Amino acid sequence: MELYDIHTHQIFLEDNDDPYHSCILDVYPLEFEVAKESYQRHCFSCGIHPWYAEDSENQLAYLAEIASDPRIVAIGETGLDKLKGPSYDVQIPVFKKHIELSENLGKPVIVHCVKAWDELIRVRKETNPSQPWIIHGYRGKPELTKRLVKEGFMFSFGDDINVDSMQFIPQESMFCETDEDEMDIRDVYLQAAQALDMEIKVFAEIVTKNVRRVFPSLEHPLPYDPKAENEKDDE
Ligand SMILES: [Zn+2]
Repeated sequence: MELYDIHTHQIFLEDNDDPYHSCILDVYPLEFEVAKESYQRHCFSCGIHPWYAEDSENQLAYLAEIASDPRIVAIGETGLDKLKGPSYDVQIPVFKKHIELSENLGKPVIVHCVKAWDELIRVRKETNPSQPWIIHGYRGKPELTKRLVKEGFMFSFGDDINVDSMQFIPQESMFCETDEDEMDIRDVYLQAAQALDMEIKVFAEIVTKNVRRVFPSLEHPLPYDPKAENEKDDE
């Protein structure tokens, strides 16, 4: 099976050499040039986090310059946060700039949303995007999940998931991530597969299909075989 981490803020040194998974590393616009040289095998998402939306004109202008780089496969993380960061008056226009770039360049959006679901849905309705929007670190309750599925969102699972919501998410909308956690991507896959009552191999095939469709340029990692790894440990 192939493993993909579609949203992470750090690639641990040993992970960078780990040929068994491919990452989308989230970087700030001004970090991109250095990161691009440091991580040859992985791709990037680039954007301005809603917490730092205030006074972000320079970063936004630079983002617009670099976002067409083929190593940048997604715009974000961007979005809305009710608990942290500046007011929506600041966050929403910055979010909309990302949406505009995403649509112009044909690249998906990695969405950060904390307790701002009504506003998020409102912005989606208003902008009517053609590109996929993937809500990262998703752990919403079933009612919210059904609403977001109806609106056409996609979902990325991290270490903290809502087991009861998993059954309401269409298979073609599922991704996995480590975000800021030190959890191994293998364990993220295992946890999500268990919540869906699926073999990890079957679940990984579903995610692989989604990644190849939504992020076709992401490098395919070497197939990972948990059995072979266990046997090696037993030797
Ligand atoms: Zn993140």
